[in-house]
Amino acid sequence: MHIVILGAGYAGLRTALNLDRLLRERGMDDTVTLVDQNSYHQLIQKIHVTATSRNHGPEAIYSLGRILDSRQITFVQGRVRSIAPVEREVLLEDGRSLPYDRLVIALGSETAYYNVPGAREHSMPLRTYAEAMYLRDHLVAQFSAAATLSDPKKQRIMLTTAIVGGGCTGCELAGELASWVGSLSKETGAPRSEVRIALLDRNKLLLKQFGPWASREAERVFDQHGVSVYLNTAIESVEPNMLQVSGGRVLRANTIIWVAGICAPRIIAEAGLPVNGAGKAIVDHYLHVSGHDAIFALGDCAAVAAGTDGSMLPSTASYAIRQGEYLAETIFAEMVGTVTRSYESLKLGELVSLGPDNGVGNPLGMPILGHPVLVLKKGIEQYYRASITAL
Ligand SMILES: Cc1cc2nc3c(=O)[nH]c(=O)nc-3n(C[C@H](O)[C@H](O)[C@H](O)COP(=O)(O)OP(=O)(O)OC[C@H]3O[C@@H](n4cnc5c(N)ncnc54)[C@H](O)[C@@H]3O)c2cc1C
Repeated sequence: MHIVILGAGYAGLRTALNLDRLLRERGMDDTVTLVDQNSYHQLIQKIHVTATSRNHGPEAIYSLGRILDSRQITFVQGRVRSIAPVEREVLLEDGRSLPYDRLVIALGSETAYYNVPGAREHSMPLRTYAEAMYLRDHLVAQFSAAATLSDPKKQRIMLTTAIVGGGCTGCELAGELASWVGSLSKETGAPRSEVRIALLDRNKLLLKQFGPWASREAERVFDQHGVSVYLNTAIESVEPNMLQVSGGRVLRANTIIWVAGICAPRIIAEAGLPVNGAGKAIVDHYLHVSGHDAIFALGDCAAVAAGTDGSMLPSTASYAIRQGEYLAETIFAEMVGTVTRSYESLKLGELVSLGPDNGVGNPLGMPILGHPVLVLKKGIEQYYRASITAL
């Protein structure tokens, strides 16, 4: 049997590594092909650090060649253009085609712009390592250029960063950026007094999935670190270096970062597979795409039920990894003809950093603040790093 896995992110890589181990243990010669547009695996949960520091770039990526060395997984670097479920074939943008017996879709997510005029054209996303590097270079360039100006008004616009979206990504980024701007100002000669960071959200709370306590803590931390929080603030349009916000107000900023939401890649809907409003593949309790026994989807690009109340699991790396572990077992069980169990999600909770010294979280449903969040996050990250490099 030939299993093709699309996407070597948290979900796809975990599926591939675990399935390869199970196949090798049984001496089976079925083939696993892992496809990704990049030659590296991205630790996306670290890219806000990459974007706000000169030294942390390499920590957020691992060479896939090195991870897969000595495994029986075939790696194909290429960008997926389309999926043909009837022909059981995946087409890559360079014209190659990959036939499959079982297909795993783990293509992650893209930035959602919700049709806000100008948002796609005039803001920067933060979903990939490449986008993080671009943002970092842009920030360094703005600070360096501001140092050469003498007009404080112009300097202020050049040194203003607007972050649209007060969810996990926006809050993590705002916290890291606030801790970096002091040293960046010193290094570049930009006036620290003209630096502004604005975090905007249309909701009345930051990190709304946690409830008011987390928003209060985030607002407190941001207030201490000079981040201005604008809640109940919808973005009406984005123009070059300018946000038009609700109430006819305008915010001028040379750096506008859009982290207001995510959606699944269009490839899934274009293949005729069933999707929800965010373009995520609708899956059953075994992570089969509904109505397609040979196709599975997981991670950010799948709509996975959180229980029986109709709610969906959040898009986080922790769930993506767990689903990858589950799917490797399920595909293997199907191959050897043993009984497959259905996917049951444990309520893992989330951990969100608010800069290098603060955070909020609810691991296993328990609210926690401050250093314990960062310690837990670090521990999970180290465990993950070891799990992808160990044989
Ligand atoms: C700044 C930030 C901080 C975060 N922090 C946390 C955190 O602390 N904890 C947590 O649990 N979650 C966190 N998340 C969320 C987490 O990163 C995602 O939920 C997770 O990456 C989803 O894993 P995935 O495997 O579904 O997708 P991804 O990890 O995005 O992997 C998708 C893969 O598919 C590849 N791909 C996509 N399209 C194509 C194509 N057309 N052709 C070929 N390859 C393609 C990509 O290159 C990528 O390798 C954070 C996200 C961000 C942006």
